[in-house]
Amino acid sequence: MKEQNKRCSACTHPVGLLSFYGCTECDFSLHQKCAECPTRKWHVLHNERLTLVTNKELEVFDCYACKRNSNGFMYKHGTKKLDVLCGSISEPFTHPSHPHHPLYYTLIEKEELCNGCNGREYFILKCIEGFTCATLPQVVNHRVDDHPLSLCYGEEEEASGKYWPDICERETNPNNWFYACKNHLACLHIKCVLGDSSGFMPSSVATFWTRSFEVVLNDSVTLPFCSRCKSRCMYPINLKLLGRSSTYICSINCASHWRGTTI
Ligand SMILES: [Zn+2]
Ligand SMILES: [Zn+2]
Ligand SMILES: [Zn+2]
Ligand SMILES: [Zn+2]
Ligand SMILES: [Zn+2]
Ligand SMILES: [Zn+2]
Ligand SMILES: [Zn+2]
Repeated sequence: MKEQNKRCSACTHPVGLLSFYGCTECDFSLHQKCAECPTRKWHVLHNERLTLVTNKELEVFDCYACKRNSNGFMYKHGTKKLDVLCGSISEPFTHPSHPHHPLYYTLIEKEELCNGCNGREYFILKCIEGFTCATLPQVVNHRVDDHPLSLCYGEEEEASGKYWPDICERETNPNNWFYACKNHLACLHIKCVLGDSSGFMPSSVATFWTRSFEVVLNDSVTLPFCSRCKSRCMYPINLKLLGRSSTYICSINCASHWRGTTI
C-alpha cells in the first residue's frame, strides 16, 4: 500500500506526515502518538476509568463524544465508548485554531454552536469547539490536489474572500473551518474531504443496518457510482456491499437510506 494511504489502526486517520510505527509484513500502522495511548485513563466525560480496547473484531461503534462511526481502537467503560481521538482529549486542551489559551470541557444545559462547523454540539470545549472538530486531522491528502490540504479556521486565515468551487459545488462559508491547499486554490468542505466513513479502517468489514460492507479506499482512476445517490463517489472511503463486486455506496448516510438488494 502506498505510504500516504496507510491508516493508523487506532484512530483510523491517515498516518500522513506524522511519525508512525509500521509493520514490515502487512499494512498495520500506528501513529507514534496513538501507540503511546495509555491503556487505562480518566476522561472528562466519564466518572470511571476507561480502558483502551484494540477492537480486533472491528466492531462498528458510535463515539459517545463526537457521534461519528468508527471501527478503530476505543476507550470503553460499560456501554460508554469513545474513539481514541476523543478519548485522548484531556484538559487543558490546546488546539491550533485557538493559540491564545487552552480549552476546557464545559458542562452545558443545551447544545451550543461549534466554531468549527457551526453545528450544534452537546460536548463542547470552551472557547467553543465541539469534540468532532477538535479531533479533525490538521493535514490530509486528497486526490483533488497533489499537495496536502491543511485545516483552516476561517476569517483571519482568509483575507481575499474568494474561493474556488468545492468538489460538491456548494458554497463554502468562510466562517466555518475548511481544508485548503497551500495557495488556497482549492478550499473544500470538511465533509467533502473526509466523508462520513473516515472512522472505518480500509479492508475491514463494517456491519450496520443488518448489512455488511467492505471498507475500500476510493483511489482507483475511475470513481465508482454510488448505488444510492447515483453520483460518483468522491469521499476517500467507499463502502462496497460484501459479496457483490460492483455495488458501491459512497457514505454511511447513503447506506442508511439505501433500500437496495439484500444478500
Ligand atoms: Zn492514530
Ligand atoms: Zn503485521
Ligand atoms: Zn469521537
Ligand atoms: Zn464542529
Ligand atoms: Zn478563547
Ligand atoms: Zn463541499
Ligand atoms: Zn451516495
